[in-house]
Amino acid sequence: RAKDHGRGVHFAYEPSLHAVAEERRQLEFSLRKALEQDELQLNFQPVVDATSERVVSFEALVRWHSEEHGFVSPAKFIPVAEDTRLILPIGKWVLKQACQEAMAWPEHVKINVNVSPEQLMQADFTDTVIEALSSSGLNPQRLEIEVTESIFLNDTEVAREALAKVMELGCKVALDDFGTGYSSLGYLRKLQFSTIKVDRSFVQGAAQGSSESLAIVRAVVAMAKSLEMKTTAEGVETEDEAELMRTMGCDRIQGFHFGRPMTSYDARALFDIDYRQLSA
Ligand code: C2E
Ligand code: MG
Ligand code: MG
Ligand code: MG
Repeated sequence: RAKDHGRGVHFAYEPSLHAVAEERRQLEFSLRKALEQDELQLNFQPVVDATSERVVSFEALVRWHSEEHGFVSPAKFIPVAEDTRLILPIGKWVLKQACQEAMAWPEHVKINVNVSPEQLMQADFTDTVIEALSSSGLNPQRLEIEVTESIFLNDTEVAREALAKVMELGCKVALDDFGTGYSSLGYLRKLQFSTIKVDRSFVQGAAQGSSESLAIVRAVVAMAKSLEMKTTAEGVETEDEAELMRTMGCDRIQGFHFGRPMTSYDARALFDIDYRQLSA
């Protein structure tokens, strides 16, 4: 296959399908132990109000420091966990930990938790949420579940009902990475999402002057407003991107510009920080 790259470039090593499968098998094996051996941790990334620039929420992002593999990105191990159903115990752990951590924050600061389609398909998903809320004592209104468009791919009805039940508890639901997946606007009618998260690719594109990205952000913001949903711009890395998203009417901003995913310890230290005063 290396030949396909042309111009006589030779790759010393290209992983074969077998090597990829073997790596996944090893990851699965280590991941099974990771939960028991406390190798998983949560990081928290601030989400700020676009106008006041105050922290309104944190998104919980799982981190794995593996004894065998070192740091493994969730982009790599979450898919493995999803394929092997390990996402079920991991997801439960994440929900519980995240709710517990949020109890240490001021009441107005919410917690965003990512949930995989496989979790939503479980008959006991609502019980899992109730358990995380009651064991921590967290007000359901402070919990926002994040799902991606992929939940609408297969058994739409089961996922929709699971989310509707969670909304009845008072929790909120955000549509993550909007615009990157199987995009049909039809399903926006099926569920009253609280928030649409505009994917980083559009934020980046818009800031680089792509008229398509600009048009998409503009359309998503307008649509969200008319459906009474909030918008969060994801992956905002620079002041220019933040300013553009603010101008375009995004309600909230998340990204390295305001804070990277950080430990719970560092997250607690962020309260009541006004970023504009910091940079002044
Ligand atoms: P996501 O939910 O869309 O999370 C946002 C990702 O973008 C995070 O990557 C975050 O670190 C990264 N990010 C935030 N701001 C910026 C920025 O300004 N620039 C750039 N380049 N990236 C930024 P992370 O932590 O590697 O997570 C990747 C994905 O893994 C998440 O995407 C989510 O889909 C999944 N994930 C993470 N934690 C969990 C979890 O607890 N459960 C489940 N089911 N999925 C999770
Ligand atoms: Mg997310
Ligand atoms: Mg996202
Ligand atoms: Mg994303």
